[in-house]
Amino acid sequence: MTFKELNLRDELLLAIKELGFEQPMPIQERAIPFIQNQDSDLVALAQTGTGKTAAFGLPILNMLDESAKQTQALILSPTRELCIQISNELKNYSHYLKGMRVVAVYGGEDIRIQLKQLAVPPQIIVATPGRLMDLMKRKKVETADVRFLVLDEADVMLNMGFRDDIESILKQMPETRRTLLFSATMPKEIANIVHQFMKNYEEIVVGTKNSGAANVEHVYYLTSEKYKYAALKRIVDLNPDIYGIIFCRTRQETKEVAEKLMQNGYNADALHGDLSQAQRDTVMQKFRIRNIRLLVATDVAARGLDVGDLTHVINYNLPDDPEVYTHRSGRTGRVNKKGVSIALILPKEIRKIKALEKMLKKNFVQQQIPNGQEVMKKQLHHLIDRMMHVEVKKDQIQPYMGQMMEQLEYLSKEELLKRFVSLEFNRFPNYGNEAEDLNEVLPREEKSAQRQNKKQAQKTGKRIRLKLNIGGRQGIDTRRFLGIFNEMVGDKSINVGSIEITKKFTFFEVFADQTDKIMNAFASNPGIEICEVKRDKQHGRLFA
Ligand code: AMP
Repeated sequence: MTFKELNLRDELLLAIKELGFEQPMPIQERAIPFIQNQDSDLVALAQTGTGKTAAFGLPILNMLDESAKQTQALILSPTRELCIQISNELKNYSHYLKGMRVVAVYGGEDIRIQLKQLAVPPQIIVATPGRLMDLMKRKKVETADVRFLVLDEADVMLNMGFRDDIESILKQMPETRRTLLFSATMPKEIANIVHQFMKNYEEIVVGTKNSGAANVEHVYYLTSEKYKYAALKRIVDLNPDIYGIIFCRTRQETKEVAEKLMQNGYNADALHGDLSQAQRDTVMQKFRIRNIRLLVATDVAARGLDVGDLTHVINYNLPDDPEVYTHRSGRTGRVNKKGVSIALILPKEIRKIKALEKMLKKNFVQQQIPNGQEVMKKQLHHLIDRMMHVEVKKDQIQPYMGQMMEQLEYLSKEELLKRFVSLEFNRFPNYGNEAEDLNEVLPREEKSAQRQNKKQAQKTGKRIRLKLNIGGRQGIDTRRFLGIFNEMVGDKSINVGSIEITKKFTFFEVFADQTDKIMNAFASNPGIEICEVKRDKQHGRLFA
């Protein structure tokens, strides 16, 4: 389908063409004709990044009368950042619609400037609910001609306590208006609003409401409350190029984790509701330009932040609502890039992982928190890699070579290396042999439940567990293992089930009828041994 087939005005077609939109995204294909051709309300389950702003923005712009100086559409959005983001998008789309004005109004900003912008009513107002209420009370927003009321990110608005404002706004809208509600999740509170205020509505569910993005790998680590921060640090250290968000449950926890990371020398900062708007803007900007590589945030505070290519999302705590996990993990693995969503969990939380696996229909892989040596090895590799690839500007360095040679002359190559590496490695004071094991094991009843499941699987002959004689010590992690596996077996149709990597071994599950092919492929490599894990051996080894 093309945008032209969606019957949009030429001015809009030209603007979106210039923005580089080639064809409508799925939500646009469904919502645009519906909004233009029907007259009932809309409830759309869609997340950020699905193209929902254009899905409601384009048909609304198409149908409004830009020659009439009346407010014809109101868009409610939870935060200042999102209001600005939406109004900028709409301004881009309406670039060639002469006379069409879009004004964003939100809290935390001098209301006088906003009052000036509203002196002549704009056709579209994008607002946070609180500020809109305020302006309506002052009679600065005329609602009599409103044809469209959009509730964007409705679930977040409710979480942020805007329920009363939203209800009050809905009550003051003309009966004839249409309500378009967009939400990533559908909690009971939203269903209540829908029942109360939207009589005749169409529901659209876009994309994978209940599943994670296809290229996100889900990983969890078992640790204790006491070691949680240390585990986080190790995981971060194991990923020297990490660029990600660490999600915490509370503002206090966000502050604490960020402060510790900063004290420990990481490019980290916190984003939470206690910061002033200016402070939040600064943090977000620094993160966008990668001045900050680890952003520690609450779910709500991270909402307005649209950063596309995170390498990792870390759940310092799993959220109570599994759909929030979907939201978080969906921030990585975008635009066809691989992403990793990590959860640090206590053994008693293993049930939450099982529930997420069921909901997302994805395997979560348990990984071992690396020991100090593994981290050091990875860091060393990274450092050497950087050194090998650094651009050496000979002309710039040449004038100082004599002085450097003179000063360093007495150092042997070995001594020089030690000192060079120490410059980087002294950041990791406790990563020698004595670094503590931060891994936790599952409680007994969980262990036996897992054994039962395995027994069952074997009885039905569905899955076979195989063991390779390489593991964490050889630098194997899930990604490397899958790389090796694909290289050796060369059959992408083989579905590898749960993978477990210990220091010495890698265990993985495959369907029984594929075992021979895999064993033969590995057998041709003299460096790697492969064998089947027998049932009675499995227990002790896998979960001891
Ligand atoms: P949203 O879900 O509204 O936050 O949109 C996500 C991003 O996709 C925004 O940067 C839009 O500008 C962009 N976008 C929306 N529709 C299209 C399209 N049809 N083709 C390409 N990009 C789009």
